Amino acid sequence: MSFIHLQNLTKTYSNAGSPAVNHIDLSIEKGEIITLLGPSGCGKTTTLRMIAGFEQPSSGSIRIDDKVVFDESSYLPPEKRGIGMVFQDYALFPHLTIEKNVTFGLNKWSTLNKKKRAKEVLELVGLADYAKRFPNELSGGQQQRVALARALAPRPNVVLMDEPFSNLDAGLRERMRYDVTAILRKANTTAIIVTHDQKDAFAVSDRVVVMNQGVIQQIASPRDMYRCP
Ligand code: ADP
Ligand code: ADP
Repeated sequence: MSFIHLQNLTKTYSNAGSPAVNHIDLSIEKGEIITLLGPSGCGKTTTLRMIAGFEQPSSGSIRIDDKVVFDESSYLPPEKRGIGMVFQDYALFPHLTIEKNVTFGLNKWSTLNKKKRAKEVLELVGLADYAKRFPNELSGGQQQRVALARALAPRPNVVLMDEPFSNLDAGLRERMRYDVTAILRKANTTAIIVTHDQKDAFAVSDRVVVMNQGVIQQIASPRDMYRCP
């Protein structure tokens, strides 16, 4: 059985005529890195937000790790879904140190365990020496790594990333594609990444989910996409 399963998932915003996401089905295996690829307005962010629990689907169901997190009779709030989120603008807390940013979601952990976990995830993203710094002292790429470390800290079932590369200039973008993928692999986590950039999608994912006007047009590995245009 797949690790994450979207079934017949639909979202129609109340002020809109046609569905933003229209009866999509998607199965994701544990450890897979998936990208949702498609032009602006095709429903990628809406899909991501429904998985995260920030947006209520109109119909269909979502299962994560054997747990139904949404269907007609159940709704699990975002904080109970085991999800790590990396926002497009990173959304770091400017007044908190990197260490405090990274442990922000670990409020039930002991101080000692928080420190240990911060060290682990900051090592994982290559920023062990930056624990006591503040976000504005870090470069864009470093801030993104902090955001990823914060998402990974609670050991989530899945990491969701919304356009993680679009705020980076060309050179850094290539580097971060490589780094983010390497970090996700090392953390052994499942990830769903939204992008409108084909190069991003091909560089980082095991499978690319191509969306258009609210539906899934194609699902294939980058390799197979090159093979059959
Ligand atoms: P993408 O992430 O692919 O750019 P979105 O999921 O953001 O696409 O948007 C899909 C469609 O839903 C678009 O037509 C967009 O205008 C519409 N939409 C997104 N969010 C809302 C909202 N909160 N209220 C109404 N319409 C929305
Ligand atoms: P992005 O394309 O950068 O992912 P969007 O511009 O689609 O983001 O959406 C930014 C925010 O605006 C989201 O919270 C989304 O739900 C909301 N939004 C997008 N389109 C609409 C719309 N047509 N009406 C109302 N809210 C919208």
